[in-house]
Amino acid sequence: MPEFTPVQNATLRPGTEVQYVKGVGPKVAGILARRGIFTVDDLVTTLPFRYEDRSRRQTVRELRENESAVVIAQIHSFTFSRTRNGMTRLEMLVGDSTGMLRCVWFHADYLRDRFQSGQTLALYGKFAREQGRLMLHQPEFEILASDQTAPDHLASLKLGRIVPVYEAIAGLGSARLRRLVHAALAALPAALPDPLPAEVRQRLHLPDRRAALEQVHFPAASVPLAELESARTPGHRRLILEELFFLQAGLELKRRRWQRQSGAPMQLNSRIREQIKQLLPFHPTAGQKQVLGEIAADMCSGRPMRRLLQGDVGSGKTIVALEAAVIAIENGYQVALMAPTQILAEQHYLYARERLPHYQVQLVTAGRRADSRTMQPHLVIGTHALLEGGFRFARLGLVIVDEQHRFGVLQRFHLMHKDADSAWTAHVLVMTATPIPRSLALTLYGDLDASFLREAPPGARPITTRVVAEQRCAAVYEFVRQHILAGRQAYFVYPIIEESETLAVKPALAMFDRLRTLYPEFRIGLLHGRLPADEKNAVMHAFRDGKLQALVATTVIEVGVDVPNATLMVIEHAERFGIAQLHQLRGRVGRPMPQRASRESAYCFLLHGDRETSSARQRLQALARTTDGFALAELDLKLRGPGEFFGTRQSGIPALQIAEPVRDRDLLEPAREAARNYLDQADREQLRALIAAIQQRWQRRYGLAEAG
Ligand code: ADP
Ligand code: MG
Repeated sequence: MPEFTPVQNATLRPGTEVQYVKGVGPKVAGILARRGIFTVDDLVTTLPFRYEDRSRRQTVRELRENESAVVIAQIHSFTFSRTRNGMTRLEMLVGDSTGMLRCVWFHADYLRDRFQSGQTLALYGKFAREQGRLMLHQPEFEILASDQTAPDHLASLKLGRIVPVYEAIAGLGSARLRRLVHAALAALPAALPDPLPAEVRQRLHLPDRRAALEQVHFPAASVPLAELESARTPGHRRLILEELFFLQAGLELKRRRWQRQSGAPMQLNSRIREQIKQLLPFHPTAGQKQVLGEIAADMCSGRPMRRLLQGDVGSGKTIVALEAAVIAIENGYQVALMAPTQILAEQHYLYARERLPHYQVQLVTAGRRADSRTMQPHLVIGTHALLEGGFRFARLGLVIVDEQHRFGVLQRFHLMHKDADSAWTAHVLVMTATPIPRSLALTLYGDLDASFLREAPPGARPITTRVVAEQRCAAVYEFVRQHILAGRQAYFVYPIIEESETLAVKPALAMFDRLRTLYPEFRIGLLHGRLPADEKNAVMHAFRDGKLQALVATTVIEVGVDVPNATLMVIEHAERFGIAQLHQLRGRVGRPMPQRASRESAYCFLLHGDRETSSARQRLQALARTTDGFALAELDLKLRGPGEFFGTRQSGIPALQIAEPVRDRDLLEPAREAARNYLDQADREQLRALIAAIQQRWQRRYGLAEAG
């Protein structure tokens, strides 16, 4: 049986402005626009976020307290009255052959003149018991014709069926949206244009678009509620796959476009291999070897490399990057290495100078800008300002972006085009320490190739993590004292640097003084983002050289800093940090010791105040349980949701309208495969249509015009 009234009068098209839908008009259209709904198609692809089963019918005797059901009953009597605070109240007594039921509505002025005794009503709501009698508060109702014994599920949008519930938009409630969606679908042609190529639809056994839309908005009573709520009906899957198909096709087109360009041509011969070997102070791990193999293959392929290297904190990405740099330099190119902070850029600079003594290495920071007119070093290291800041490379062959776990910058490199006057495009290697669950990486970076470094290098220290209440910090400080006396160094990390009125945090500055009193025998340094660059460097050097035993720092040390002898970390107010950030911070201890093959543990103490929330407790406990970055990333994603996890807004990742990458992860791979297959066999005409469909969807909704 059809669940939707057949279309009689198709007056709308999918692209028609939404104000022409019956019941909309300019004012409502203005409200809908706030949610990005401009066309009829936008409206009908705004899906319910949950469903209510209002198909279950019961007699009055069968009704149970706290359950919801539809009951068909006749009006015995009703009275309007006024409450003490001036509200109109309607109380009604209804009954069927099995018993009586009381219904109450407040704010009931709109119900005056609606009812007559003897009328038959279909009522839906959750039943309550008051003074031993069953009650319905504010039930949904429908007046039935005298010969009707059940609500007509085709005519009724709210009773006798599974009812969609929509997220309200400003003043527009769910019931109103339900009527608007219904009106829109009723006025669209029976055969809707389907943007999804027929082959794809057939291969994946997807229903056509109209059937899918009718199913998700007005499902048959036989569809299991659980399937609807988890977006697993054929209709849902079809609409999700459609969206993912276009996303993947867009990414794939982008990928093919850069693959058509020529990459800086390079080769890897035995002389270069020898150079690389000399640079290594240790045997590379199997993982490092494999990843370098993948990178080298890219750089010698003739196409520009676009590779994302994911490796947990401490997995040894830096040396892989330097190896890649050697290949480029030995082929006569320049390399740019970019870090997110000056401290990290500085550290890379020192490391690279030590490891690559035969090459000219140049540090470019805001304070110290190289003169690119006279100097053309082999390797230029700086912050992200490097490329934007206008260092003019004569022969840039490789760009390495380190610790890109704030995804925003990545997008800009996506867009990096070759210089107009050079015949090739630079290779790009992006390294991130924030593991992204693999399936999600497909959606978000589907246009990049991906490599993974999973194992920690040999000698890496195991880290013991303890969650400790602030009141018991004395024991922690004493523990740290003993280890410093034994020759180790410690980090003390604070969430902010100055007292703020809204956050009752021990400021790092005050804490610095306190620790100096606490540890009069130690030299302690202070490091925070507002120090002048020179001072920051001086402090960092002193700590690295062991001249300071402890470092009080804000999160400026979050990424990349590598001081192997620092094996202790105390994080104050740990409840204020997110999982990813704590994991990064903790990664600063537990670095392998080059000389001493010591396996003694490193320690991380997460101190928390007494106002920690339950989600903060979950975070801290997860960190104490595991040091596996992938497991922590999964949890983080679950606790925060994908939007916050990825920082969607700043990252430029298109917000999806229907699909949810985490919930729909099983559909990502099929969508990607379908997109690739389709592109492989599409002719010119089909390609043009596909690009038009992508542009139409993305350009308007996400401002992503970059499909062709
Ligand atoms: P990350 O991936 O966090 O950037 P690093 O590149 O800083 O990690 O490496 C972490 C530490 O491990 C460094 O001290 C580095 O010298 C060391 N290291 C890297 N690779 C190896 C290896 N194959 N054997 C021994 N130590 C290694
Ligand atoms: Mg690193």
